[in-house]
Amino acid sequence: MKIKNILLSFALIVVFHVFTQAQKVKTEKEVVSGNEISNSDSLKETNILPSEKIYDDSWDTLYIRLSRHAKVSVNDSVILKLLTEENSNFYMPVPGKVISEFGWRHGRIHAGIDIQLNKGDSIHSAFDGVVRISRYFSGYGNIVVVRHYNGLETCYAHMSKRLTKVSQIVKAGDVLGLGGRTGHATCNHLHFEVRYLQEPINPRLVVNFENQKINSDTLIVSNDTFFHRKNISKKHTTNKSDFTVDKKGNYYYIKQGDTLYSLAKRYNTSVTLLCNKNNISEKSTLRIGQKLKL
Ligand SMILES: [Zn+2]
Repeated sequence: MKIKNILLSFALIVVFHVFTQAQKVKTEKEVVSGNEISNSDSLKETNILPSEKIYDDSWDTLYIRLSRHAKVSVNDSVILKLLTEENSNFYMPVPGKVISEFGWRHGRIHAGIDIQLNKGDSIHSAFDGVVRISRYFSGYGNIVVVRHYNGLETCYAHMSKRLTKVSQIVKAGDVLGLGGRTGHATCNHLHFEVRYLQEPINPRLVVNFENQKINSDTLIVSNDTFFHRKNISKKHTTNKSDFTVDKKGNYYYIKQGDTLYSLAKRYNTSVTLLCNKNNISEKSTLRIGQKLKL
């Protein structure tokens, strides 16, 4: 009799376990519905997942920011090769005019650069890589995120249509989707981001949008590269006199020894951009205390 009871209890536990597993699978399917999720395990097995070591094997197909297990700090400078023998091409994502820069906008960071386009224009992958995300977000609209073999990631937002799926291998120049204004966008444009270890960096450090070429074959990434990290670092919060933020953006007050070149380097921008924003020429003499818009 006792054995019978034990067997019955065991059978009940097995039935309960199978039932809960089935529920779990159903829930997971519901969560990812609407997004093209494919099995990244097959990519891992064939060892073609880009930059596995840098990202501790993290391959999140739903969110741009990675899991807490990923490495998120750059303690030393890292030199990234933008072009290598195997991945030797750069392709301009869309050949339009820049209509909004990377940096502070309405008191928040604008994590990418906006490029004007017409609805339906092709949006191309900047470098070779693998699609990590292809989905819809309320802010980004239709977005495709590509991870490249050097660890950089590029994001293409507000598309009217996505033409690539998660885990799809892409070459520089391949069409990822079509331009549009889905999500929070007031006009048709491409919101283009460049990220490394989940942090946004100024796309102008990589791409010369006017010449439609990359700036250099290499990119040096260090903690200083991450614009918004710098602005929340102690360096600036404890010394407000040289750096203030207001609703319109960031201002810097010139100190002895500052040059346009040193400021451009420190704040991840270019001398040309600083001059344009402040309506000054590259040869202008800077006065101590002069207010510059960054
Ligand atoms: Zn934007």
